[in-house]
Amino acid sequence: MTEKIKLTFLGTGGMIPTEKRNHPAFFLSYGNEGILVDCGEGTQIQFRKAKISPNKITRILLTHRHGDHTFGLPGLFRTLAMSGYKKKLLIYGSKGIKKTIDGIFQAFGDTTEYEIEVKEVLGKFLETKDFLINAEKMVHGPLCNAYSFVLKGGTRLDKKKLRKFKIKEGKHLSDLKQKGYMIYDGKKYTLKSLAITEKEKKVSFVLDTSFNDRIAPFVKDSDLFVCESGFGEELAEKAKEYMHLTSGEAGKIAKKANVEKLCLVHISERYEKKSSELLKQAKKYFKNTFIPNDLDVLSV
Ligand SMILES: [Zn+2]
Ligand SMILES: [Zn+2]
Repeated sequence: MTEKIKLTFLGTGGMIPTEKRNHPAFFLSYGNEGILVDCGEGTQIQFRKAKISPNKITRILLTHRHGDHTFGLPGLFRTLAMSGYKKKLLIYGSKGIKKTIDGIFQAFGDTTEYEIEVKEVLGKFLETKDFLINAEKMVHGPLCNAYSFVLKGGTRLDKKKLRKFKIKEGKHLSDLKQKGYMIYDGKKYTLKSLAITEKEKKVSFVLDTSFNDRIAPFVKDSDLFVCESGFGEELAEKAKEYMHLTSGEAGKIAKKANVEKLCLVHISERYEKKSSELLKQAKKYFKNTFIPNDLDVLSV
């Protein structure tokens, strides 16, 4: 079994926090990677509640500069400094995000204990041997990015099977990959009999945005689609005015993009006691919809 992508919903609320829902923040972990998507005020406390060390963060993806998505940064920067953070902290955002982070340093002082690098990104901006991360431009007052994390699929040799047949590492394994078979110790083995095929996995994040045609193609075939639902259908006009999505729009996008699961987040305090209404509205278009609570964990 290969490792799974784990997503912790640190904050599922919107602009104003409630007793139950903190500002937007999502922590995706895979292997040694710890990717924080947005960092609303109090995110570092949510890390504590989730029993995750903030030292696990390797990268921060910021959707946009609005306070409900960024006010947690200064506190987090200090906590990392006090906790002996030694990595280079990579922060990604849309154009202008460098100015926002510089503003934080100007207001509260530079972080000198460890290195912070800020990158303004769009399109496929990161690719490792295992995964890639893409950014797409959304529509929301200040420049805003949506993100997708794609774990590459493919055929990998199954170490368990290699052990079972007592096959050691060596050049014969590259033959196997190239030719589709190999002769080892007088026996013929096919690649199929020794490999496991894993399909690509995709987790997408669409936070504050107006409905637009770029969302569905960007989140297409996501296993997990985390999407803002700032307003209910009954407030469609307000959603347009404030450049947010309604729950119905999130459902429509999920259906069009053929995703596996839709998670509605950025739940307004307005729906604190009636989030089931948002759920119902989204489910009208897309059945496999959920509203996660703060600190819920999903694996893909
Ligand atoms: Zn916003
Ligand atoms: Zn917001």
